[in-house]
Amino acid sequence: MIDYKLTFETYTKNLLGGRILGLKCNKCSNYIHPPRMICPKCYSTDLNIIEFNGTGEINTFTVVRVAPTWMEDIAPLIIAHIKLDEGGFILGHLSDIEADAASLDLIGKKVKMIGGREVKKDIISGVNGAIPIFQLL
Ligand SMILES: [Zn+2]
Repeated sequence: MIDYKLTFETYTKNLLGGRILGLKCNKCSNYIHPPRMICPKCYSTDLNIIEFNGTGEINTFTVVRVAPTWMEDIAPLIIAHIKLDEGGFILGHLSDIEADAASLDLIGKKVKMIGGREVKKDIISGVNGAIPIFQLL
């Protein structure tokens, strides 16, 4: 039996506090985000919880116009796929750009996490989750 190093509850609580937690492999030094039970590079389970610095680069994005109930109040909005500086990726709400102003110029721009928004009854886990909020640097 493999234990989860980083539980969903701990991860979510930290996102709401503006911190991105992930894992670092003690065998190959790979930074892992989203968190997993094993290192995707070397398959080791010898992982430590670390705090990512919260900065990264927009890899791609989408504009959400028909939003799920927990973000209807802020739709339309931009959800970005962000390559974290340490490695790995995260999905987050890009909050300082109007959805109608989104263009391909956003790709490659540097961003920083500024906080988290609670997601009531996450559809995957059935419990409350969080989505990180980013702004351009
Ligand atoms: Zn590894």
